[in-house]
Amino acid sequence: MSNHGTHGFVTHLECALCGKPHDAEQVQNLCRSCQKPLWVRYDLAAVKARLTKAALAGRPFTMWRYAELLPMRDPAKIVSLAETMTPILEVNKLGAEFGLEHLYIKDESRLPTGSFKARGMAMAISKANELGLTRVAVPTAGNAGGALAAYAARAGMEAYIFMPQDTPLINQKECFLSGAHTFRVNGLITDCGRLVGEGKPVKGWFDVSTLKEPYRIEGKKTMGLELAEQFQWALPDVILYPTGGGTGLIGMWKAFQELEALGWLASPKKPRMVSCQSSGCAPIAVAFEHGERFAKKFENAATIASGLRVPAAVGDFMILDAVRASGGIALAAPEADIPHWMRQAASLEGIALCPETAVCLGALKLLRERGLVQPQERVLIFNTGAAQKYPEAVQEQLPLLDVGRPIDWTAV
Ligand SMILES: *Cc1c(COP(=O)(O)O)cnc(C)c1O
Repeated sequence: MSNHGTHGFVTHLECALCGKPHDAEQVQNLCRSCQKPLWVRYDLAAVKARLTKAALAGRPFTMWRYAELLPMRDPAKIVSLAETMTPILEVNKLGAEFGLEHLYIKDESRLPTGSFKARGMAMAISKANELGLTRVAVPTAGNAGGALAAYAARAGMEAYIFMPQDTPLINQKECFLSGAHTFRVNGLITDCGRLVGEGKPVKGWFDVSTLKEPYRIEGKKTMGLELAEQFQWALPDVILYPTGGGTGLIGMWKAFQELEALGWLASPKKPRMVSCQSSGCAPIAVAFEHGERFAKKFENAATIASGLRVPAAVGDFMILDAVRASGGIALAAPEADIPHWMRQAASLEGIALCPETAVCLGALKLLRERGLVQPQERVLIFNTGAAQKYPEAVQEQLPLLDVGRPIDWTAV
């Protein structure tokens, strides 16, 4: 294959478990031998020879600026809603709550559809578009469905979306508005995933489930590329990431490997990756604690952090491998504390955290109590979505003023 311009550096796809190579020119889902996810592999030596940091600096501030490290061959096939680079905010008041001098939040809620799922879906749908696919399906805990619906609409593709019946109403409605065929299911996301597999032979759709196709992870990888560039290639010491299916964490870790291969990182020391889960659904945290590489299904999964309600993750071993290789940890924070942390972050810093990210704050508290993060370390937390998408997570009733009576302003 040939490199044309800034695109086309993919060499092949490679099974994450057995290493078997697969053809990147063909439509692929899981490894044909062992049914595990596929990595996208690049000719990094060629990228290194071609791409410079200076060239990068002059490009538009979207995730597509990393074209050489992304799987598109034909830029004309990109389906985009302007996936902007997201800001990294210093949060000193919030940091002080944890006795930390350098706490940062990377605010992914600015992305199209209000969550970082846009990165993965922009890439998966762009690649599906390039491969000539026109019908896609996904099981979703909420935001993946919203993002898929939006990008499929933008691409002119037909989308089928399956979600647990108690998925946040906003996610149900955004899928409807985008014209996706949207179904509620009286089960969990794993049941929805089974339905997508079952319907495939009849409906002929492409399954864009988390890690069941190779490209969503490449979209999420841009979180790692982007934060590296924003930190002038000197990565933070610790990254806290709310983990459901784990694509974000796996993708970021892959980004750091690739940047290392390009010789772009300021130091060989990479961030300790912290996989944060809620006590209401913590299969990865449990597996980590037990020293296991594959996670057992988490029974009776229940959390208002809907993006974390993934009782069994296809990429469990990829998450656990990355966490361990980084010297990090997977841990569960109390479900009951989620509203507290959402209010804490928004009232101290004005940043509306999704409940998934509130879980990271609970985890950070535990890390500090156990002495696993030091006061002067640079700690980065991902705000993966907008609090505004989760009205259900805030139960408070505001006081009501009665216009028919005189108001006692001293009591207001
Ligand atoms: C999906 C989702 C997560 C979990 O992301 P994974 O990469 O699947 O682990 C976290 N937060 C929000 C807001 C999500 O929508």
